[in-house]
Amino acid sequence: AGLDEADEAVRGTCEDASVCKRFAVSVGYWKDPYIQYFVRQAKERKAPEINRGYYARVHGVSYLLKAFLKKTECNCQIVNLGAGMDTLFWRLKDENLLPRKYFEVDFPMIVARKIHNIKSKPPLSKPIMESHSGESLLIDSHSLDSSRYSIIGGDLRFSSDLEEKLKKHNLDIQLPTLLIAECVLVYMTPQQSANLLKWAASTFPVAMFINYEQVNMTDRFGQIMIENLQRRQCNLAGVEVCKSLDSQRERLLLNGWETAHAIDMMKVYSFLPQADVKRIEGLEFLDEKELFEQLMQHYCICWASKDSSNLGLASITF
Ligand code: SAM
Repeated sequence: AGLDEADEAVRGTCEDASVCKRFAVSVGYWKDPYIQYFVRQAKERKAPEINRGYYARVHGVSYLLKAFLKKTECNCQIVNLGAGMDTLFWRLKDENLLPRKYFEVDFPMIVARKIHNIKSKPPLSKPIMESHSGESLLIDSHSLDSSRYSIIGGDLRFSSDLEEKLKKHNLDIQLPTLLIAECVLVYMTPQQSANLLKWAASTFPVAMFINYEQVNMTDRFGQIMIENLQRRQCNLAGVEVCKSLDSQRERLLLNGWETAHAIDMMKVYSFLPQADVKRIEGLEFLDEKELFEQLMQHYCICWASKDSSNLGLASITF
């Protein structure tokens, strides 16, 4: 596939993630009243293994994110890299957990689609208006900037561009900053993701990075996962970093982060509040326990911190 085609396939993954999330929400895995405004209902049912996987992904990331919000008392920023149709801003607002400012970055084409949804659906635009104060809100087809929510079209493979755009939207590098990359880094070369991580570590004196993506991709099951993605023309340029939990951790440490952890999703699943896990395990019958475990061993959450103000970010864990 040519470069543009490969990027187009990567953009398609954003649709996939949200369709799967919407489906899992419709079955009752977790609550998200906003996802319905961003993607269509799935054409067919998703397998219970997939739904449980998304449950662990959403709750795992949310667990670390909330620990960060607690340590910083929401006196912080969130930068969601490759956010796609993520609804985190709206969910945090409902829970009264908005950071000082919440930023999203994605390809301009995705951002345009997201802004279109926001503009045309009051349940999405109202919370942005409500949390906005001061001057009039800035909005065009490829970016939106309000007091608490900002969305920027750009390419994460060029981090200097990124910084300039974020600064135009009042990014404050002195504020504790949480960067999130959920299924994003794998689409860049190891050099490009290293640059992004290095940029983040050297720009923000107090920061945390959460990365969710594939791991253990060198075994038979991992190879099949890669083949499936490649069949859809997706360019998994960064897959070599996904070979082990160690290589994931090492990438963070080599690029300026002070602490780094990486655990597979089976572990994450076992750390999630077990009462709710019991509840979701009752939602659908899962036939193939082994398949579920295999799948979960091939995704991981990695997190890293640097903390010159001693807020205690280094102690954040499951
Ligand atoms: N993080 C969202 C989630 O978990 O629901 C979306 C995940 S989707 C698998 C990957 C997202 O990363 C897509 O929206 C894609 O457009 C975006 N992305 C990948 N590479 C990118 C790049 N170089 N620049 C900007 N966005 C990128």
